[in-house]
Amino acid sequence: MRMRPTLSWSSAEDPEPGTTDPEPVVDALSAGGVLVLSGAGISTESGIPDYRGEGGSLSRHTPMTYQEFTSSVQARRRYWARSHLGWRTFGRALPNAGHRAVAAFERHGLLSGVITQNVDGLHQAAGSEHVVELHGSLARVVCLSCGAFTPRRELARRLQEANTGFEPMPAEINPDGDADLSDEQVGDFRVVPCALCGGILKPDVVFFGEAVPPQRVEDCRQLVRAATSLLVLGSSLTVMSGLRFVRQAAQDRTPVLIINRDPTRGDRHALTRVALPLGPALTGIAARLGVPVDSDEPS
Ligand SMILES: [Zn+2]
Repeated sequence: MRMRPTLSWSSAEDPEPGTTDPEPVVDALSAGGVLVLSGAGISTESGIPDYRGEGGSLSRHTPMTYQEFTSSVQARRRYWARSHLGWRTFGRALPNAGHRAVAAFERHGLLSGVITQNVDGLHQAAGSEHVVELHGSLARVVCLSCGAFTPRRELARRLQEANTGFEPMPAEINPDGDADLSDEQVGDFRVVPCALCGGILKPDVVFFGEAVPPQRVEDCRQLVRAATSLLVLGSSLTVMSGLRFVRQAAQDRTPVLIINRDPTRGDRHALTRVALPLGPALTGIAARLGVPVDSDEPS
């Protein structure tokens, strides 16, 4: 999923160590009109692993490209077998304190919206309403022939029925909802076609090697233009699909603030990078602003 990332920074971009002072973020939020750009780092506290952070999975997991997926029956078998198992983790994942704080900021009129690079739906699950899913959503499936969108849980049920007894133990679950399985474990997993036309089904997410739909990019650019400031949460900004919005904001002289434990490719455009874990950092910022955050008790 997404474009192939560049894994190293050039030496000209020596990373700054970051700060633990969240005050600039408090100031930006209290002014309102903040656009959030979130990445995998905000979902790690929900048990969804990051590709690149500590223990990141990118070193051992190469996401399937769009070209592989569309050109090979065996690749689709492998994808859906792995994704079918991975979906159980995604299906169970709950929003964490970071997602809940972002939803609370929106409820209090401090945000203009959220652009997320995540496909896990956890911002919406926490109550955020104005969310652009830059890379799509694992909760939807699209037919490559007739274009129909259907809920993933429906496909999960059909895959379950077609593959009774398929219970391998995956080694790892990845942030794109993909579980690590050997070819032997994939075995003769049965992929099901579109129930309407028999076409090939694909999760409604942007794969590596696939472009983000142009209209969606334009919608995001419009959000960036209208924002008072851009707040990046939990993204290393390694791929251009997110970094371009940081660059756009910097060009517009719109302040960019980042909360991310590790250095990011956007640091040199940012007013500050707060190097704190997101859940506690955003909860603390909400407290400073007097914004109540929902508890994690199921309602
Ligand atoms: Zn179809």
